[in-house]
Amino acid sequence: MTIQPPHATEIQAGRLKRLYRLTRICELCPRRCRARRFQGETGICEAGKLPEVSSHTLHFGEEPPISGTRGSGTIFFTHCNLRCVFCQNYPISHLGHGAPVTVKTLSEMMLPLQARGAHNINLVTPTHYTAQIAHAIVLARRKGLTIPIVYNTSGYERVETLKLLEGIVDIYMPDIKFATRETGKRYARASDYFTVTRLALLEMHRQVGDLKLDEEGIARRGLLIRHLVLPGRVSETREILRFIAEEISPRTYVSLMSQYFPAYRASEFPDLSRRLRREEYETAKGFLREFHLDFGWTQEMN
Ligand code: SF4
Repeated sequence: MTIQPPHATEIQAGRLKRLYRLTRICELCPRRCRARRFQGETGICEAGKLPEVSSHTLHFGEEPPISGTRGSGTIFFTHCNLRCVFCQNYPISHLGHGAPVTVKTLSEMMLPLQARGAHNINLVTPTHYTAQIAHAIVLARRKGLTIPIVYNTSGYERVETLKLLEGIVDIYMPDIKFATRETGKRYARASDYFTVTRLALLEMHRQVGDLKLDEEGIARRGLLIRHLVLPGRVSETREILRFIAEEISPRTYVSLMSQYFPAYRASEFPDLSRRLRREEYETAKGFLREFHLDFGWTQEMN
């Protein structure tokens, strides 16, 4: 007797079930709060039962292969599981600006973005709603969604959860923020950030590989990593870039950002209460050269 492999829709149904199970007594992310999300409890991220959305629109400010010429169909989710003290989007991630939507409504946000020409659906801060988002994508795919799905995350992810997104996400676009236990603890109460995020990025790369662009330079599939250089922490930037080059792939597209400014509670931390210095960013760019990370982008400093 030949055993038939399971059909793709059966695989997806099984994965959705497991994602919902992980949300019910929530262990979706490395915080593993065990909040009973469907019974009104919230964990560290403050997310409840329904996904909350702050905005859904075409966005032109992402990296060139993501925004392209027609924009990235960006859906910005409320709340966050990492909650950095310097968050540049704190009204959405910390203060909860946004409104709850059903899974059906979320799926119905995607097709109009595609109809307006979006190159992709860009899910910003999706981690705490992974189950509902994956469900919405499956519904939207059935109704004709064909553009790639971008998973735009802080990087603080569980490998177990990411494995359930295999075949659903096309492009992973994680940040990698800190490289020491002390910094993760001080700025995000996540001393395990670097340990956990390294494993998460390796899993993302295993699923989708290096970033692949089409003939117009638009991303179709793969991994694109962002790193915001923090004031006084350039040595951590070096360790992060070394990890990317030596343990993921020297062909990784890296977006090295200089745009840090003190936001939210940053002024409470003397080391965070200034902008990045030009010489710090130049040093960081030197690390890109040192590790031969030739693909990606840097920013101009004013
Ligand atoms: S997603 Fe939210 S509730 Fe669930 S484990 Fe993470 S922080 Fe806790």
